[in-house]
Amino acid sequence: TMNPKTDIEIAQHTKLVPIQKLIDDLDLLEDDVELYGKYKAKLSLNTLERLQDKKDGKIILVTAINPTPAGEGKSTVTVGLGQAFNLLNKKAIIAMREPSLGPTMGMKGGATGGGYSQVLPMEDINLHFTGDIHAITTANNALAAFIDNHIHQGNDLRIDPRRILWKRVLDLNDRALRNVTIGLGGVTNGMPREDHFDITVASEIMAILCLAKDIPDLRFRIARIVVGYSFEKMPISVADLGYEGALTLLLKDAIKPNLVQTMEHTPAIIHGGPFANIAHGCNSLIATKIAAKLGDYVVTEAGFGADLGAEKFLHIKARVGQFKPAAVVIVATIRALKMHGGVAKDELTNENVTALGKGIENLQKHIETIKAFGLPYVVAINKFVIDTENEVLTLLTWCNENDHPVSLTEVWEKGGKGGLQLAEMVINIIDNSQNNFTPLYNTKDSIKEKILEIARTVYGAKSVDYTTKAEKQIKEFEKFGWSTFPICMAKTQYSLSDSSQKLGRPRDFTVTIREFKPSIGAGFIVALTGEIMTMPGLPKKPAALNMNVTDKGQATGLY
Ligand code: ADP
Repeated sequence: TMNPKTDIEIAQHTKLVPIQKLIDDLDLLEDDVELYGKYKAKLSLNTLERLQDKKDGKIILVTAINPTPAGEGKSTVTVGLGQAFNLLNKKAIIAMREPSLGPTMGMKGGATGGGYSQVLPMEDINLHFTGDIHAITTANNALAAFIDNHIHQGNDLRIDPRRILWKRVLDLNDRALRNVTIGLGGVTNGMPREDHFDITVASEIMAILCLAKDIPDLRFRIARIVVGYSFEKMPISVADLGYEGALTLLLKDAIKPNLVQTMEHTPAIIHGGPFANIAHGCNSLIATKIAAKLGDYVVTEAGFGADLGAEKFLHIKARVGQFKPAAVVIVATIRALKMHGGVAKDELTNENVTALGKGIENLQKHIETIKAFGLPYVVAINKFVIDTENEVLTLLTWCNENDHPVSLTEVWEKGGKGGLQLAEMVINIIDNSQNNFTPLYNTKDSIKEKILEIARTVYGAKSVDYTTKAEKQIKEFEKFGWSTFPICMAKTQYSLSDSSQKLGRPRDFTVTIREFKPSIGAGFIVALTGEIMTMPGLPKKPAALNMNVTDKGQATGLY
């Protein structure tokens, strides 16, 4: 059953139905949509208003164990589960993040699912799509230009050029731009200063777009962005500069969610894609809310493992959106669990039940976390063709012996058909299990209390240390009235701890908070552990080396 085709080959062999067909099936009205060609549409925000009295569908969050270079297939399972619901004649909608061009051109690995569980047209979605990310880049950089112009024109606000937090962005992996000097060339060319570039998905504008409820809320959040500090060390906001109107205007279309289809024509809303370390890693709240109005089941995902994406989905997104998730799917692969159990990447093809047994500890910790939030869950084993029968049996037995609902899914190989049991189990736990969803902390708790709760309960840490700088920042943030925001942890995705080398289930470790970054516009305080890369670099052989376009204009080599 080896699948000889690449994701893009499978995708290009699929016949899409016109997006108008999905629009009709979803009972959307003419004014609810704007067509972007034959296979893409934007949903207007009026749709939410029009359907405000309609009961919300059940929101199912797909999360995973800690990622490894072996891959977990969270997006693939998200798409496959949506397709499986569809086969069961349930009205299901998928809500996912939009991919960033940086990783697309850099590392192999799609963000539109894989095999027979993909969202289409994958070339468009993986490239420029409907231009949302470009709009975010422009809004971000417009603000940077307004700041530098303000300084050049006399600096009435007394912005300290050494204390500017706002960086420029680009939706590419470009390490040469991480640290730059701008404004060189004499008096007419601005005030020289050190500046930095991030990748667009790390922009606070992206996080804001994904948490805003509507256009007034978008403007409100943009207005309160803290761009830096004055010479008197007081925060300076976008409202102080007066550009919240213009920046919101630049995002008026980007804020509308994008409707596309899966390979089995299940509707999928793909919108927004903030980083899951420096930001909260979930598709837009508006997309999830519209999906919940249009479908009985919404299948959505959050970046990296349950220690990052799910924690933030549950503490940040669900809190802002005031919704309660119905269930969680925890994706695990045998390959990744073997890596957590100590197997090197190039030895994953050999059967290793002992290492698998050890690596299961990582899955166990994430299950404990979801239980701590009071949510019902199903473990989804994303089956790879190289998994041996013994290995599959080992994992299934462990789940069964410990009363963890589990389903072996083959959505990559078989599409929705490969996820029917998973879909049935999800429906079953939603209907028959207790849902006692409770956040682990209160926003009123102190910054340190919130972080300690996350570190202990979600990571399994013993304690939290703070650098002198972080301690000083906590005092400042309390003074500025920022301590009641939720925390957005920026931590390595590879480990439950803050050290990427500690795989499996590390114990008795201390998490060190190096510094904080106020994302006041988005409405959270970023707590940075270790060095977090916000502008990735390209690998030695970027995926872009394989890409091309035929004379007829068809993309090739996008995975
Ligand atoms: P994640 O969302 O966890 O990053 P993806 O769903 O994007 O993972 O999958 C990453 C890559 O792995 C994709 O190229 C996909 O085709 C591949 N993949 C996922 N699941 C499987 C599987 N069961 N067998 C083979 N390849 C898979």
